[in-house]
Amino acid sequence: MALDKGGQAGSKITPMTHQTDIITLPHGRPGTTRRLTIHRFGSCSGPKAYIQAGLHAGELPGMVVARHLLDHLIRLNAEGRIKGQVVLVPMANPIGLDQVLLGGHVGRFDLASGVNFNRSFADLGDTVADALRPGDLGPDADANRRLLQRALAKAAASLQPRTEADALRKLLLSHAVDADYVLDLHCDSEAVMHLYTTPACWPLGVADLAARLDARAVFLADRSGGEPFDEVCSTPWDRLRAHYGRPDTPIPVGCSAVTVELRGEADVDDGLAAADAAALIDHLCWRGIIDAPAPAMPDLSDLATPLAGVDRVRAPVGGIALYHVSLGDRVQAGDHVATVLDPASGERHPCRATSDGLVWSRTQCRYAGPNDILLCIAGRQVLVTSGPLLTA
Ligand SMILES: [Zn+2]
Repeated sequence: MALDKGGQAGSKITPMTHQTDIITLPHGRPGTTRRLTIHRFGSCSGPKAYIQAGLHAGELPGMVVARHLLDHLIRLNAEGRIKGQVVLVPMANPIGLDQVLLGGHVGRFDLASGVNFNRSFADLGDTVADALRPGDLGPDADANRRLLQRALAKAAASLQPRTEADALRKLLLSHAVDADYVLDLHCDSEAVMHLYTTPACWPLGVADLAARLDARAVFLADRSGGEPFDEVCSTPWDRLRAHYGRPDTPIPVGCSAVTVELRGEADVDDGLAAADAAALIDHLCWRGIIDAPAPAMPDLSDLATPLAGVDRVRAPVGGIALYHVSLGDRVQAGDHVATVLDPASGERHPCRATSDGLVWSRTQCRYAGPNDILLCIAGRQVLVTSGPLLTA
C-alpha cells in the first residue's frame, strides 16, 4: 500500500449538510438482512468526531443519549454551527439487537462465534507503518496527521471480512479510524459514570469530557488487550509516534478515543440521557467542532487511575452475593465489602477489598459463580502486571 500524499484534508470543502446512510451488512445468511444507519453532519474540512452507541447491543443508555444527540445535531446543522464533521451511529450493532435467546436479550457477545462485539477489531498500525517510506513524513505535525489518517482509512477499506460480524467491525472502524475524536458509548452492569482512555489521550482534553459528564472514575491503559474499538482508533498513533516520531517528523496524538460508560444497564432515563447529550455537545463545542460557547469546567486531572489498578473483588465460592457497599463508596484495603452466602449450608464467605479506592461498579446479578466478579474498586496501585486488563 502506498501512502496518499495528495489532497490535503482541508482542501476539499463540501457544503454543510446532513447525510443519512443506511448500509446493508454483507455476509448475512440467505434470506436475512441487517442494516446500519450512519448520520454524517458538516463538511469534510475541520476536525472530525465519531460517536457511536450500542456496540454492546443490550446497553441502552447510550442509544437514548444518541437520540438526543441527533436532535441537537439536526438543529445545530440548520443553524450552520457545525464547523467540522460529526459522524453519529446511534445503534451500532444490528446483529446484537436481533439476538434474543430464551426470552433474554444477548447483546454483548456474537452468538455465532462467542466473540465479544467490542473485541477483535483490526489494529491497522502495523499496516500503515509497513507502508511508510522515507520522506513521507515531514516537519509539519498537522500534515503528518492528515497523511496518517488517510493511510489508516485506506488500510481499513482494504480489510476483507468473511463474516457479518467482521463486516460490521470493518464498517464501524472505517468511519472512525480517520477521526480526530472518537466517543464509544457503553454502560456497565451497575456503575457510576466512568471513562476508559489511554495515558496519551487523557491530558489532551479527555479531562474536560470527564468533568462535563461528572465522571467519578477514569481508567488509563496503554493497551488493555483484545483490540477493543477505542484502542484500535487511538493506540496505532502511539506506536507510530514511538517508531517514527522525531523532532523533524513529529507525530501527534492523532485520535483521542474514549469509551464512555454511561452508568449501569438499568440507568435508562430520558432526563439523564438529555443531560449527558448536552454535556457531549458542550465538549464538542469546547473542541471547536461546533461553533457555540461552552462553560469552563474544573480541572479533574487527578481523577484518572490505572486500569491495571482496578481491584476486582471476586466470589470465593458460588452463592448469593450480599453487598455491604454502594456505588460511589470509598473503601480501604481489608474492608468487608461483600458476603457470599451458601443458602444450603448457611455458610457465609466474606469478601474483602485489596485496595483503597472508590467502588465504581457492582454486578447486577446476585447469583454468583465461583470466582465471578462481584464489584470493582478504583485503586491507584497496579495489581495486574500481565494478561488482558478488560473482563470478558
Ligand atoms: Zn459495553
